Amino acid sequence: MNPKRMQVATQWSSVYVWLLTFFLLLNNIVAKAQTSASNWHFDVAMAQPATHMYHVTFRCPTGNVPTLTLKMPAWTPGYYQMMNYAANVDNVRVTDESEKALAWKKTGNSTWVVQTGSAKQLVFTYDVKATRNFVASPYLDENKGYISPAGLFVHVVNQLKQPVTITLHPSTEWPDLIATGLDSIPGQRHTFTAPDFDVLYDSPILMGKLEQLPAFTVGGVPHYFVGYNMGDFDRQQFIADLKKIVESSVAVIGDIPYKHYTFLAIGPGGGGIEHLNSTSISFSGAGLDKPAGRLRMYSFLTHEYFHHYNVKRIRPIALGPFDYEHENRTNMLWVSEGLTVYYEYLILRRAELMSQDDVLNTWQSMMTSFENKPGRLHQSATQASYETWEDGPFGRTGDDAYKSISYYEKGAILGVLLDLTIRHATQNKKSLDDVMRTLYQTYYRTQNRGFTDDEFRSVCEKTAGTSLAKVFEYTSTVKPIDYANYLAYAGLNLTDNVQAQPGGWLGVATRAKGDSVFVTSVDWESPAWKAGVRTGDQLLLIDDQVATVAAIQALSQTKVAGDTVTLQLLQQGQPDTKSIQLGTKKVRQLKLTRQSAPTALQSAILADWLRGTHASLKPKH
Ligand SMILES: [Zn+2]
Repeated sequence: MNPKRMQVATQWSSVYVWLLTFFLLLNNIVAKAQTSASNWHFDVAMAQPATHMYHVTFRCPTGNVPTLTLKMPAWTPGYYQMMNYAANVDNVRVTDESEKALAWKKTGNSTWVVQTGSAKQLVFTYDVKATRNFVASPYLDENKGYISPAGLFVHVVNQLKQPVTITLHPSTEWPDLIATGLDSIPGQRHTFTAPDFDVLYDSPILMGKLEQLPAFTVGGVPHYFVGYNMGDFDRQQFIADLKKIVESSVAVIGDIPYKHYTFLAIGPGGGGIEHLNSTSISFSGAGLDKPAGRLRMYSFLTHEYFHHYNVKRIRPIALGPFDYEHENRTNMLWVSEGLTVYYEYLILRRAELMSQDDVLNTWQSMMTSFENKPGRLHQSATQASYETWEDGPFGRTGDDAYKSISYYEKGAILGVLLDLTIRHATQNKKSLDDVMRTLYQTYYRTQNRGFTDDEFRSVCEKTAGTSLAKVFEYTSTVKPIDYANYLAYAGLNLTDNVQAQPGGWLGVATRAKGDSVFVTSVDWESPAWKAGVRTGDQLLLIDDQVATVAAIQALSQTKVAGDTVTLQLLQQGQPDTKSIQLGTKKVRQLKLTRQSAPTALQSAILADWLRGTHASLKPKH
């Protein structure tokens, strides 16, 4: 026998053995998957989508315990507000495997306790009313079905780690297209699998009269964009730009942690929520042909996409694994949200979808906006994070608006300070990118957990090689920010002008409802505020003339500071007359300009900070 030939034969036979082992293993895995599929399973039907009603059937083994407690989450990861999803649940029916009714009762607004008796399997069916067309709520009509999973799927208490499968039964009128980050089960129609309920709750699903844009790959990983009612726009250009956004985002961290990623565009509207390997976004392509509209949409998409790193994987310890019943509080939404806003613009710049001046103008607008709001004197970034469950996603509204800030806005500003300080302290050898990569590798890849407040600060300081006490003081206090000091690291000057606005200032905004005029907001410490005018007051007369929205707006033209106006109004139904001396409205305008003779280090920091080459696709340091 030819030894050479024999060697080849031996190699082949070992391949056969290996393949055989592989197929046996695969069989085993498939068998296990099928067992679990029959064990923990949801069927989601929507026979009459126009009625906005999902019909859900959940099956799971009882495990031979006498009672099982089921819960519906009270909120969804990514939207830090209590949603009380169970209020939409109705028509609950509980049986065993042979359709024999089991006794159950509600023991809280999101909790059902079932007496399982000798049942082997629990069959829990319920309807979910889905009328709110919003990224954080399930929605259904004759055109589309959107599943915000925390609002549709129940779980068994202490069993969140169970693998689960879902079979959807979409309207037969719809194209055969379902968008989700979940893996589909080959050969099983409209059936998907989640390794546990945490992944299920982090994987929205979109069905309906959808359109799929051309898929693209980054690092060999496919990315999909599927949407409803997306409007007219240049789809090819859009996908080419989106690919650049994904590439430039990936380049920050240098690792893609998922096998596929899907953008779920649920239709025109407002809002987006990040998920593990998908995002739900309100989307219309209609504004993409104008620079401002394009920048708004691209920064939004960048934000939601970059979140799959910053907050889903680079995350504060309180943000996962989640408690779906209670508020999950953290001091660090300024990191998870604010630094994500900060990266929107760095990434768009690196993708060459913004110019350097665009980025500088963005920081300038953000700083100006922040400095003109009184919340900066009342609430720190860490407080705003912690209190968001009460304050609302963007801070308080109405007469309390002055007491709170947006951690999106201040967090992004803190990103500028942190990044420039690290660059300055390291002779531009390190940056906030290094912080993000270290957090990702240490806490996500190595330890698979979130980081504490102290650990976050420690990574920042180790990267900078020095104390960052001054920057961190700005995170937890309302101390006025010394912008000029930090911007100078990049060779930028800051001018801060206070401009007196012409005309008399009352300080109210109003809206007409029928023939009546109501106050919609009152500027804090304005003449109207000091006189006790408040949101919701009904204005009757202004200087004995019938109050109109136009008459209020005209005060800035017809009166000057020092003039008096007399308002007759109804406050909480009680008539009141107020004589108010008008003041002068003052607006701060911050302006960033380049220094005329920057040092070599300042120039290097500015150039690298706002670099815009596709060469940036590889992590720099
Ligand atoms: Zn966000």
